[in-house]
Amino acid sequence: MKLNFIIGMLGILIGGIITWIIAHFYYKKSNVDIPEWAKPLMKKLLKIAPNKEELISLFQDMINDGLIEPHSVFKHVACPNCKSPLENMKYRVVGDNLHDGLIMECPKCGYSEFADL
Ligand SMILES: [Zn+2]
Repeated sequence: MKLNFIIGMLGILIGGIITWIIAHFYYKKSNVDIPEWAKPLMKKLLKIAPNKEELISLFQDMINDGLIEPHSVFKHVACPNCKSPLENMKYRVVGDNLHDGLIMECPKCGYSEFADL
């Protein structure tokens, strides 16, 4: 009888500890800092994957709000290959007296693209 009581108490104690551990780590996990610019998008994101129209709509909203700005020449919003942000790209103007062009290079993956100016 006394042993059953001790086992019962241990069960409650261990259960409490496990519950605390789960709650503690869940709280930490859910407390991830979301960057300020991503909050409007996170609020609008659906629990299930958005379809193409919804994704385009969200993307256009962010362009309208000035949160995303496609490159004026290349029209990209990130490196087309590795998705590195535009501010990381290197640009070079090339050409002669007749023809000018712009080269965009990604230092991270080596992606390179040329556009006439
Ligand atoms: Zn890249």
